[in-house]
Amino acid sequence: MRIYRIAAIPGDGIGAEVVAAGVETLAACARRDGGFDLAFDHFDWGSERYKKTGAFMPDNGRDLIKSHDAILFGSAGAPDVPDHVTLWGLRLAICQPFDQYANVRPTRILPGIVSPLRHVAGPELDWVIVRENTEGEYAGIGGRVHRGLPEEVATDVSVFTRAGVARIMRFAFALARTRPRRLLTVVTKSNAQRHGMVLWDEIASEVAAEFPDVTWDKMLVDAMTMRMTLKPQSLDTIVATNLHADILSDLAAALAGSLGIAPTANLNPERKFPSMFEPIHGSAFDIMGKGIANPIGTFWSGVLLLEHLGEKPAAARLMRAIERVTADKALHTPDLGGKAGTVDVTRAVCEALAGDNRE
Ligand code: ATP
Repeated sequence: MRIYRIAAIPGDGIGAEVVAAGVETLAACARRDGGFDLAFDHFDWGSERYKKTGAFMPDNGRDLIKSHDAILFGSAGAPDVPDHVTLWGLRLAICQPFDQYANVRPTRILPGIVSPLRHVAGPELDWVIVRENTEGEYAGIGGRVHRGLPEEVATDVSVFTRAGVARIMRFAFALARTRPRRLLTVVTKSNAQRHGMVLWDEIASEVAAEFPDVTWDKMLVDAMTMRMTLKPQSLDTIVATNLHADILSDLAAALAGSLGIAPTANLNPERKFPSMFEPIHGSAFDIMGKGIANPIGTFWSGVLLLEHLGEKPAAARLMRAIERVTADKALHTPDLGGKAGTVDVTRAVCEALAGDNRE
């Protein structure tokens, strides 16, 4: 029996609710499969810990999880802790040292779910957004001087390295090649940002030569928001910088019906470090503890986790179970206009898994 060790980090807000549901569903998936098992280790890292001890995770935190096969993450953020402190204290403190440079975000309109775009349904919106996850606008370089004075200065320097851009570009072209349409859109802003983004464009052209079977085009990020909204059918795989893809993927999630559905994989493709899987949404304190958080984004992240572990049949089974459940409007949570709770959706997905007879 193959046994995988998974680090579960629920984090803050609804993170605890959706990760508990995700762990239950992944365990049901392993039971149904029979060929592998998942051993979960739970870590209570997050804002509560920060408020008590001054750190989101222990000093040796990364050592504790670096040998795990994967990480299942909830969300980080609390109303009384500044967002940038949380982001750099936990999520980025894992993603960057673990070199999870490819952030992959599939978006589809699942069965039973209605897009806010009129006349757009099902296969007309089927994208994967690849986000550069280690440098660019979130490189962390910059500073503030003359605080509080009229001459105060603050800088955030975007960093684009040839090595960093080439590897994400190559990853995106290779991913586009595995999808039926073999179509990649490279997002840029090289009209206004004439150094880093021009390098991004040049490397895109160079890498494209290695993938003659992939059709590709370029879009400025502002025009991209219009194309996503007006011509969603014209897009398939999309690659963009850390900041641009961060914004575009929230738009993508909303166009596919709800932020509560969308998944993310933070991949270290070379597998030198564990990869991390998490729903796109944040800690959603407005609905915390009400039992109505949509767990589908976490379940779909579980599909990506199983695919990464190489458990393809189990991943496909979990995706089928998710789609069977979203197709039933009685099992929609309030973000989708329904009345179901997290527990109802979780139970239904586990039942669908148990009842799936396909191998
Ligand atoms: P953060 O600052 O941590 O990103 P946030 O509250 O600003 O958190 P989100 O947590 O992403 O942003 O939430 C945005 C909105 O979407 C909120 O109204 C929230 O209730 C809703 N939402 C997010 N995730 C879910 C979910 N899984 N189920 C239901 N509603 C959700």
